[in-house]
Amino acid sequence: MSDAWVCATCANHYPESESPPDSCVVCADERQWVPSGGQRWTTLARLAGDGHRSDVRELEPGLLGIGATPQVAIGQRSLLVRTGEGNLLWDPSGFIDDDAVRAVREAGGLRAVTASHPHFYGSIVEWSRAFDAEILLPEADASWLTRPSPAVRTWSGTLEVLPGVTLVQCGGHFPGSAVVHWAEGAGGAGALLTGDTIFVTPGEDRVTFVWSAPNRLPLPERDVRRVVEAVRPYAFERMYGGWWTPVLRERAKEVLESSANRYIEFLRGEAATT
Ligand SMILES: [Zn+2]
Ligand SMILES: [Zn+2]
Repeated sequence: MSDAWVCATCANHYPESESPPDSCVVCADERQWVPSGGQRWTTLARLAGDGHRSDVRELEPGLLGIGATPQVAIGQRSLLVRTGEGNLLWDPSGFIDDDAVRAVREAGGLRAVTASHPHFYGSIVEWSRAFDAEILLPEADASWLTRPSPAVRTWSGTLEVLPGVTLVQCGGHFPGSAVVHWAEGAGGAGALLTGDTIFVTPGEDRVTFVWSAPNRLPLPERDVRRVVEAVRPYAFERMYGGWWTPVLRERAKEVLESSANRYIEFLRGEAATT
């Protein structure tokens, strides 16, 4: 692993250099936050020295989760979608170690690595280097990558990365915010991997939308409608958000539509709240 600087708050990586940048551009943005005591930096070696380890779990046939324990920064766990023609890694955790790389190698390696949005680019360049894998970034958000790489390929709209594995640009949280539609997921009924493009809520029976999660800023109606419309052409029963839990296991498509309608009622002040 490299000595890249890792933002301790969002776990995005920055180029190796004598000293870290003054600030993390991802955390300085209104959607994120900087600790009241100021910007903090770490490295992969320091995180490992502090006791962080990879945590690899099979979530369903064809889908591996790879996170860190204890979790690092925002704490997203990656998802490895496996197909007969290669694998896609989604929402890489900011932490990566040899165990994680070995698990992916044993699962068939990596064709491409991508993420739902810039908060979850994490160790994307480290993964690309380990497998000589392409980094797929939406054109609209590519400038957010904090560690440049020649392996970047940009896309927009939709992109079928592997058979039955399609990136869908939804916008909202970021202009390039995306989901993965995985046709073979949920036993062939279809699954969506959403990061925080669509937020699964704790009861695992609703979803919600945010422009900023930590700062509790809502998503405007036009963006909510655009997210729902972007995934409407796809069949899916299950939805995986950015963390191990919650997971919306059943009826995800209907739940998305009804949750969006309820959310819009609140935005418009039309919801009865007594
Ligand atoms: Zn940061
Ligand atoms: Zn985010």
